[in-house]
Amino acid sequence: MKIKEITCRDAIHSIPHFMDHTLTKTELREFMHHIENCPECKEELSIQYLVKQGLEELDDNGPIDLQADLERTLSEAKDSIRKHIRFRNAAIIAELLAMVALIVILVLSLI
Ligand SMILES: [Zn+2]
Repeated sequence: MKIKEITCRDAIHSIPHFMDHTLTKTELREFMHHIENCPECKEELSIQYLVKQGLEELDDNGPIDLQADLERTLSEAKDSIRKHIRFRNAAIIAELLAMVALIVILVLSLI
């Protein structure tokens, strides 16, 4: 499936939703696609992410590696997109198999 190209404005607008995990799978794919191809928006995401996580983790004492954190969040998002696509492919294959089975049953009943 072709990924819709979103504008930088849309991508920037999606950043808070990305961080709150409230994007739909389709939105997430479009967002990730844009972020991976647009250094400006990736930079903006880094900044917003670092600020948000930084504020949330001020109370924690452990070492903070926000950049690694962001990379992990991005790769988790990619993973979840990959799983989603694989699941959809599996659903298509299952449908095809069901159709083949139906045809076989029809053919057998005609013999
Ligand atoms: Zn952009």
